Amino acid sequence: MTDTPITPDVTTLPRLPRRADGKINLVGLTRPKLHEALIAAGTPEKQAKMRADQLWQWIYQRGEADFAAMTNLAKAYRAMLAENFVIERPEVVSKLVSADGTHKYLVRIAGGHEVEVVYIPEEDRGTLCISSQVGCTLTCSFCHTGTQKLVRNLTPGEIVGQIMIARDDLDEWPKPGEGSDLRPRLLSNIVLMGMGEPLYNFENVRDAMKIAMDPEGISLSRRRITLSTSGVVPEIARTAQEIGCQLAVSFHATTDEVRDKLVPINRKWPIAALLDALRAYPKASNSERITFEYVMLKGVNDSDADARRLVQLIRGIPAKINLIPFNEWPGAPHERSDWERIESFADIIYKAGYASPIRTPRGEDIMAACGQLKSTTERARKSRAEIAAEAGI
Ligand code: SAH
Ligand code: SF4
Repeated sequence: MTDTPITPDVTTLPRLPRRADGKINLVGLTRPKLHEALIAAGTPEKQAKMRADQLWQWIYQRGEADFAAMTNLAKAYRAMLAENFVIERPEVVSKLVSADGTHKYLVRIAGGHEVEVVYIPEEDRGTLCISSQVGCTLTCSFCHTGTQKLVRNLTPGEIVGQIMIARDDLDEWPKPGEGSDLRPRLLSNIVLMGMGEPLYNFENVRDAMKIAMDPEGISLSRRRITLSTSGVVPEIARTAQEIGCQLAVSFHATTDEVRDKLVPINRKWPIAALLDALRAYPKASNSERITFEYVMLKGVNDSDADARRLVQLIRGIPAKINLIPFNEWPGAPHERSDWERIESFADIIYKAGYASPIRTPRGEDIMAACGQLKSTTERARKSRAEIAAEAGI
């Protein structure tokens, strides 16, 4: 291509969300939207596919954020990109590292809201737990995030941006000349188990996961992505068809009476309706087993009778059951089941032929364990408010 200046078509560009300075963030645009944005900015239609492919590789294969470094693009084209676009991740406000190696990133998104992202290194994998909403509309009794009202849905850029931030911090983008899969991945798995209900932000989660799975970019296999839902039944079939990732379900109780209290969405879609949707999932998504998450709450859902009912209920569904010892948070109305109780529960499930791993709480010392997210932030918020009050602002 030549170095002739390119005049953007400002009449079509506003269809995409803009920052305050009028620029559009390319992170989080799907391939068709990226293509459209480049054409609107003046890229000749014939070249647009190739330019979109080149940019895609720079952004998601190399982690590049500076147009000036994109040496396979002509200088004038790079200047045009810099004038109209940015490649922007959410801002990392702080990073805490637990004694067990877990990282917790506090991330600030547009509007000054904050979400937490947790990286959990293990021997054979590194899992990133990402958030899909600021807060949650649901009010599960054992979940700290549920005590916080929904502030807003995250955009696709803010969701995939969490993965990019972690790859930046782990220094995991391949260096020039290096293939993308030379070393074992430090960030090899994604779980949508942070703040929020991913199926109440379906389109944005889907677009972000499509970007994460794209073979020319971050290239995570759909088998290494697990979406956890509290049971938004109508969106489960869509998850199979449009994302195709692995599914986890926050089951947590074996009777509607108890589940209504623990996971209030059960009043809308009770256990029988949920199980019907789950039966259809593995086939439709070509996925392996469904993970049934089961938080162990003392005296509430942890009896041997519960364990036996659970295996009855899930009969016929390819499943593994992930037992999660309850993680405490200030003011929580529950207690963690005793260890012997958890083991006895696990044993019944195991003898019925299901894998029943007990999830080791990770990052408890930095409040990064399941269901604890947001607590430190809230404390930080309060103290900032106090500081502001003291300063008379
Ligand atoms: N909203 C989605 C995903 C986020 S929660 C969902 O509910 O599935 C991720 C997992 O952590 C869910 O299984 C949730 O039930 C569990 N969880 C929430 N609070 C917890 C706590 N205090 N202790 C242990 N697990 C908890
Ligand atoms: Fe929301 Fe999931 Fe917490 Fe329930 S467990 S309140 S759905 S984040």
